[in-house]
Amino acid sequence: MSLTHTLGFPRIGARRELKFALERYWRGESDAAELRAVGRSLRRTHWQAQREAGLDLVAVGDFAWYDQVLQTLDWLGGLPTRFADAGADADPFVRLFACARGNAAQPAMELTKWFDTNYHYLVPELSAELRFDGEAVELLDWVCEAQALGLHAKPVLIGPLTLLRLAKVRGDSGALAQPLDWLPRLLPAYRRVLRALGELGVDWVQLDEPALALDLDADWLAAYREAYAALAGHGPRLLLASYFGGIGEHAALLRELPIDGVHLDLVRAPGQLDGFLADWPQPRVLSAGIIDGRNIWRADLETLLAHLSPLHAALGERLWLAPSCSLLHVPVDLAHENTLPAALQGALAFAVQKLGELTTLARGLRDGREAVSAALLEASAGRAALAGLPNRRHPLVEQRLAELDADAGERALPFAERAQRQQAVLGLPLLPTTTIGSFPQTAALRAARRDYREQRIGHLEYLERMRAEIREVITRQEALGLDVLVHGEPERNDMVEYFGELLGGVATSANGWVQSYGSRCVKPPLIYGDVYRREAMTVGWSRYAQSLSERPVKGMLTGPVTLWKWSFCRDDRDSATVMTQLALALREEVAELEAAGIRIVQIDEPAFREGLPLRAAARADWLAAAVLAFRIAAAGAGPATQIHTHMCYSEFNEILPAIAALDADVITIETARSDMELLEAFHDFHYPNAIGPGVYDIHSPRVPGSAAMLRLLRRAVELIPAERLWVNPDCGLKTRDWPEVDAALAQMVEAARTLRTEL
Ligand code: GLN
Ligand code: ZN
Repeated sequence: MSLTHTLGFPRIGARRELKFALERYWRGESDAAELRAVGRSLRRTHWQAQREAGLDLVAVGDFAWYDQVLQTLDWLGGLPTRFADAGADADPFVRLFACARGNAAQPAMELTKWFDTNYHYLVPELSAELRFDGEAVELLDWVCEAQALGLHAKPVLIGPLTLLRLAKVRGDSGALAQPLDWLPRLLPAYRRVLRALGELGVDWVQLDEPALALDLDADWLAAYREAYAALAGHGPRLLLASYFGGIGEHAALLRELPIDGVHLDLVRAPGQLDGFLADWPQPRVLSAGIIDGRNIWRADLETLLAHLSPLHAALGERLWLAPSCSLLHVPVDLAHENTLPAALQGALAFAVQKLGELTTLARGLRDGREAVSAALLEASAGRAALAGLPNRRHPLVEQRLAELDADAGERALPFAERAQRQQAVLGLPLLPTTTIGSFPQTAALRAARRDYREQRIGHLEYLERMRAEIREVITRQEALGLDVLVHGEPERNDMVEYFGELLGGVATSANGWVQSYGSRCVKPPLIYGDVYRREAMTVGWSRYAQSLSERPVKGMLTGPVTLWKWSFCRDDRDSATVMTQLALALREEVAELEAAGIRIVQIDEPAFREGLPLRAAARADWLAAAVLAFRIAAAGAGPATQIHTHMCYSEFNEILPAIAALDADVITIETARSDMELLEAFHDFHYPNAIGPGVYDIHSPRVPGSAAMLRLLRRAVELIPAERLWVNPDCGLKTRDWPEVDAALAQMVEAARTLRTEL
């Protein structure tokens, strides 16, 4: 019988219980004991879901208070040493959340994207003082919790090499220069934890090593040998879990490692299986990741069962079945959906449903196809109904795509000439000040959107509340003296979901929340069909905002790459096609904004970098398609209309040529936290167009002084000519409060004015 397990389960809760509990705790409205109780109850619920579905093992340690990387660091004693004093004697939460969110003395740890997902982890910080002296007491407690419920607990930890691979060396650490130099210190901590788990009777531990799916140098590969040799034989058996890509080229290496099993992502890389099958040593386990942990479509169980049967015949009990990766990346339970069209709903599987798919397959392997034929038929019927939806293939959309000219992505003039025309229209001062788009999403705004959605207020009332907000933010921006204004995005719950609700071929779920970081969740739209623009999406708001001011108000769109990347996307069309469809829809919007008198249109692409394939070999093709999609959208504007784009959190170095190829007139980027370091790369690259390096970190409630911003700006003018520099925060301000925003923007405008007088 094939054993079934999941690499991890979403921890946020079907009703986002963890989110609300965390935020209550952070606001001081509840205490640590209450937060712990919510965590305990969620873990229990999630284990129950695994047990009820019939899984053989339950994942323990996939739960985390804020982030699984932070959690692993905490257990190993690897929290950044700069937080050593944070609430030393208080509840351990004080220190944990200080690391995650910063405190009065220290900024938060760096947050960045987990591989090619929209999940963000906290970047481990390696310093000379780091001891890795943890005992993983909390993890041991959770194992006991599961065992007390009569469950077969399989602890999950991020593996040592992935942990180091994601880490950054901080400060001068003497002889310790590279992350790998910390391995000798790290391994004893893992050994200690493994031994302790063994003493609890744990028989399997899953060590996540998604770093194996990245391009790895020889020293990293050698380190895998060293590390796993050191970890083997210290208690439980080790399942090395890879995901997000193929690791077939390392099959020989994995065969040599003293591990007891390997998990392969057979959704992303089905072809890698052959490299392992041939002589996978007895009695090692091969965990087949066959249910897509990154997408929400129902699996084709019939086909999967047919593929698995010979594998099962060859491996027998050594074949385990699992999702491709942790289910962290999909929503919790389809049972909470009630607004989707039936044909779409029937084609979906969220985390709970995916568990059921696994056990259906395991039963089919054990008892034969007939034993599960009803479930197979239901799956096929659900998938067929989706394929039959009218929007799935739209002849007009296909025709528009086919008719695209070779120069569809060309603006009429080169940047230098566009810049002149734009300046003639805009008349902006040197170092123009602006913001990234959103302003604080107050409770009143959220209530207005909710009331409208739930039909407690009519359209006119809703319109008036939004317009009142727009009037308010325009007045505030004029008072602050900002040069380029925004309408503030009050109508948007989320920059992607908003467009998902309006575009044809895209649906939005009622409860399909996925954790993005900490307590923050997103509800990715479902791109299920050919995409088209049904009607103007932003023009009304932008036109109204512009009518209130002489100063330019930026139109605000989410770009094609980000819409694609932050949605769950159909899997029967390649990404280039979907991105191009989105681009054509946006292009029409850009043209209509321009016709409505909007002189600047910002096309946000914060997800541009994370769309990049993990392996270098696949990047050029993807980048070409992504750049073209952006350009097609932007070329909806004439040369006198200024196109901005915005990206955050990104590491740009290797993609700078593509960023330049976007040919946006202005790009605003996140640079405050990295002390303008990023700008050096733009400088070295001779980036040709205008740049707005973020001068303050919007992720922290601390209001920076204008002196700090001035310092950053002085650094910026050393790197980029002042004529091509803008002044703006790092990102949108929707998560902040007005008093902070007012204070910070006033300081920012002052910093820009001061610098202008010096130039
Ligand atoms: N315009 C968006 C905002 O200001 C951009 C958000 C983002 O970059 N993630 O909220
Ligand atoms: Zn941003």
